[in-house]
Amino acid sequence: MNYPIEAIRNDFPILTQQVHGKPLVYFDNGATTHKPRQVVEAMEEVAFRYNSNIHRGVHTLSNLCTEAFENARQTVASFIGAHNSHEVIFTRGTTESINLVAYSFGETFLQSGDEVIISGMEHHSNIVPWQLLQKRKGVVLKVIPVLDNGQLDMEVFRSLISRRTRLVSVTHVSNVLGTINPIEEIIEIAHQHNIAVLIDGAQAVQHLAVDVKKLDCDFYALSGHKLYGPTGIGVLYGKEKWLNQMVPYQGGGEMIQTVTFEETTFNELPYKFEAGTPDFTGAIGLAAAVKYLQNIGLQKIHAYEDELFNYAFEKLQALGNITFYGTAHIRGSLISFLLNGIHPFDAGTLLDKMGIAVRTGHHCAQPLMERFKIPGTIRASFGLYNTTSEVDALVNGLVKVRQLFG
Ligand code: PLP
Repeated sequence: MNYPIEAIRNDFPILTQQVHGKPLVYFDNGATTHKPRQVVEAMEEVAFRYNSNIHRGVHTLSNLCTEAFENARQTVASFIGAHNSHEVIFTRGTTESINLVAYSFGETFLQSGDEVIISGMEHHSNIVPWQLLQKRKGVVLKVIPVLDNGQLDMEVFRSLISRRTRLVSVTHVSNVLGTINPIEEIIEIAHQHNIAVLIDGAQAVQHLAVDVKKLDCDFYALSGHKLYGPTGIGVLYGKEKWLNQMVPYQGGGEMIQTVTFEETTFNELPYKFEAGTPDFTGAIGLAAAVKYLQNIGLQKIHAYEDELFNYAFEKLQALGNITFYGTAHIRGSLISFLLNGIHPFDAGTLLDKMGIAVRTGHHCAQPLMERFKIPGTIRASFGLYNTTSEVDALVNGLVKVRQLFG
């Protein structure tokens, strides 16, 4: 495949270092990805050239900064295929995006006894906000079960829908199983019943081309730091028709039109949901990350990562005495497994001594661990800069882990 891996790796200086005297092999991209020079330089340019608070100033730097911030919104909007850039709200990340919907959609549209459907493979960030809403408003939470192969039980999903169902909130790609959920089908079924759908895209947008217009989802959440952008910045895409009606999430500067002690009127979209000074430096960095991905091309990235995934899966399978979690036909980007008889934490600690970074534990999905009756897994999650020789290093590392444990 014509994939510029050398040039890509050169853009990520962090990858050239040694850890415990060994070349770093970074397979923890599901938790956070590294930042290319282009992202750091874009943020440096803000700090060194035009840092200034946005939207409020008449002076040159403020105007430059405002323009760069609003351009960043446009870049993100076209990246995810949003109709309008004012449907793109900058948040701190996926977690805040979901909390925003749980609060504002919940306060505006949900009554006691109304139902929200999530799935058994959700990250805690797509469980706890709904539980808080449950406590606040008496909303009922229903859960789509996960099959043994790591797919959602779509039969049960259909049967969970009732007259009182108001919202479905599911992950696009599982951060534990790698399953790519049939969100098109979920959205279609939900819409047949006039139910809104939120998609947690934290593990999707860095691997798959996403078009919210085609998907027709009502909300889509993502995090900058998982798509080679900065931490502390993320996005909530929401359809204008919902966002316009929803009550604000937080109060403060920027989200108002007029304030008196008697009454406040709220700003238009997207500002109504961006109280206080937003992380404009982060948003500009995120746009640089998006452009970086667009330059390589998401189709190309997806094809490359798919090859890497297949290579890794075959090699790991050949090791034998290994249990995989998530064997759905349509999956990718990460592999969750256990070396039979060895605790994932022990394996992860030994791999680290060999310079290999994997994630071990419950991956913020305790109900899913409970479902599979395991304490956690070892998760190797791939990024656009990983290579087959790094996969070989992981496999050799696992052989050594086994030897050390006899
Ligand atoms: N949803 C999924 C599927 C995730 O994998 C994560 C993070 O790992 C999150 C939500 C939360 O993302 P953040 O911590 O960036 O808000």
